[in-house]
Amino acid sequence: ESARERPRLRTISNHSVDPVVASRVPTPSAAISTGQPLPIEPYRKELVEAIAEHGLLVIVGETGSGKTTQIPQYILGHDPNARIVVTQPRRIAAISNAKRVAEEMGERNLGNRVGYAIRFEAVVSPTTQLRYVTDGVLLRELVDDGALSAYDVVVVDEAHERTVGTDILLGLLKQCKRTRPDLKLLIMSATLDVEKFSDFFYGCPIFQIPGRPYPVEIMYARNMRLAALQSSFVDRAVDTVLHIHRHERPGDILVFLTGSQEIERAVTATEKLDAKLDYRGDVAHYHSKDPDGRRVVGMSVFGLYASLETGQQREIFEPARPGYRKVVFATNIAQTSITIPGIVFVVDCGFVKQKLYDPVTHMDALVVTPISQAAATQRAGRAGRTEPGKAYRLYSHEAFSDLPPNTEPEIQRSALLDTVLALKAMNVHNVQNFDFVDAPNPDLLRLSVESVWVELRGKGAADSKRQAQVYELRRQFFDRTGDHLALYNVYSAWRDHDYSRSWCRENMLHHRALEQAQKIKRQLESILDKWSVPDTSARDPTTSRIDPVPILRALCTAYYPNLAKKQVGRPVFYQYAVHHGKRADSDALMSLAIHPTSALAAAVEKDDPRVGEIEWVFYHDIMYTTRANMRFVSRIWRWEWVEPYVPRLDRAMAAAAAPEGTEDGDERVEKAATRSENPPPSASSSGADD
Ligand code: ADP
Ligand code: MG
Repeated sequence: ESARERPRLRTISNHSVDPVVASRVPTPSAAISTGQPLPIEPYRKELVEAIAEHGLLVIVGETGSGKTTQIPQYILGHDPNARIVVTQPRRIAAISNAKRVAEEMGERNLGNRVGYAIRFEAVVSPTTQLRYVTDGVLLRELVDDGALSAYDVVVVDEAHERTVGTDILLGLLKQCKRTRPDLKLLIMSATLDVEKFSDFFYGCPIFQIPGRPYPVEIMYARNMRLAALQSSFVDRAVDTVLHIHRHERPGDILVFLTGSQEIERAVTATEKLDAKLDYRGDVAHYHSKDPDGRRVVGMSVFGLYASLETGQQREIFEPARPGYRKVVFATNIAQTSITIPGIVFVVDCGFVKQKLYDPVTHMDALVVTPISQAAATQRAGRAGRTEPGKAYRLYSHEAFSDLPPNTEPEIQRSALLDTVLALKAMNVHNVQNFDFVDAPNPDLLRLSVESVWVELRGKGAADSKRQAQVYELRRQFFDRTGDHLALYNVYSAWRDHDYSRSWCRENMLHHRALEQAQKIKRQLESILDKWSVPDTSARDPTTSRIDPVPILRALCTAYYPNLAKKQVGRPVFYQYAVHHGKRADSDALMSLAIHPTSALAAAVEKDDPRVGEIEWVFYHDIMYTTRANMRFVSRIWRWEWVEPYVPRLDRAMAAAAAPEGTEDGDERVEKAATRSENPPPSASSSGADD
């Protein structure tokens, strides 16, 4: 019902020429690039008023309409003291927009009134009022100051891209807005499906800037399926550029490819072919008929991708030399982030390189995948900015119809290790309850790994002698704290044996699972590096032994609420809470056993005094057989580790469980062992279920 009440401040025009917009008198800033007014300019006054009136506003307008470069300037024109931050999903866009705006505002240097900040690089000063930053930079500022007191206006740009960074940002900004009612929050999108954002922000108004001044004709490649195209799109793109160059009227060409390597290859191939063209015979023949009498004598070919030197980009935005046709081979960055003036022809390869979760390795990979129909429409739209254009799709109309209508948000297709860690770094511990625009796929939130232990099968499984041998092999890695450090011991031993495959075989360990662990370890290291988390090793520098306490404490808080408390005199546990964040009342309590493969299983069954009495444990997951088994279980030595994270814990349970704190792990084992003679009043007061 919020959709019905939501104010629509503007409606979008259809796809034909809008003569009102096209005939407006240009302001000086717009004249810099095209000599035509930007679609946003007629709405300056209305926009400024809407922003002044609403603390939350969604702004939607076609790529190139002027959202990123103009709106912050409009705000500064209205309130010269405003402090504004504009986020971009891509570094290159943060830099290029800051440069452009500084130029339009007549700033001599970047970093005075206008600046940018990307990771490891900030061109700002205390006088900087308008900052273009990557979403990662603003996320980090939110960690330091949850109220974002350095800003009056926060603009989340390119929200339609739905990167993980942007999605987390939206959730955190929603929280921030509660403590900062005066903060202006603008969400900007280049695509029309913005209801979602409005709904997320309490049905806030949507300001639509009428768009697409010129029609774009779409050409399809006959019978070309995406599967066949995938291996040949670079060559086909180059051929199509040549075709356009020889047979179409003058006008610049934008080609969408997927990555820097292909782009460089295409640039070289096109330049070579261009050098061989007979401009007196071939091309000039066609262009001699051009009504403007323009003759094309060559192509200026460029590549545009994220890692490109910023110096090289400048020329891309400048008009081609007279008589030359500009050709830009670009990644997805040119789809909505960066507008290149003068584009009349678009060539769309139909693919994009994006992050995808690989269920086999449980990791994200950058994969070349087909684009969505919405993305294809965006790409085609780049051709109709300054005059009627043409888009050449390198695939067939049937292939287009088979494309998914929309691109899935990144958060729903990536492994989310990054997301979870980012949120935990921001003290958001219950990721599953975090307020997301679109919740992540819960299956992806669990980072399930193949077991490292080789299980006996068939005859071997029935052979008790064989089983005892396997158990002895496992026992060499066991740790009295539980399975997590046992796994660590396995990994260290494997490393000490030069990551050997035969050593794994001899010890009944899955080599592939360990390799996977190694990959994840590297991935985690790179994430820690990305978030500038210092490498504080858990190894004692003098004894070079591992101190289990910081490791277990970290794991324990990470696994919350996967906690369980042992029932007195029985080898089963109470589950702390079945429903996250809910009180552990009697309905929610459930009996859990320890999986027989656990390092703690024997100790729990026999109340092994070497392990000491076990009270609280945390576990990785539950496997249901005839009973519910906790897998990968470790002990919680000190209740204080979890205390801050269990705000709604039944106090009686907590008090019963809390051991007296001691300083070091070994002593704790002794204490725990002693206490076992005097069991605390049990959790049965909370009600057992069997
Ligand atoms: P939007 O954010 O709505 O996509 P922008 O504000 O980025 O639009 O761009 C508005 C116009 O400004 C573009 O159409 C383009 O003509 C011009 N422009 C933006 N950046 C540059 C630049 N670096 N060089 C030249 N022109 C630019
Ligand atoms: Mg923009």
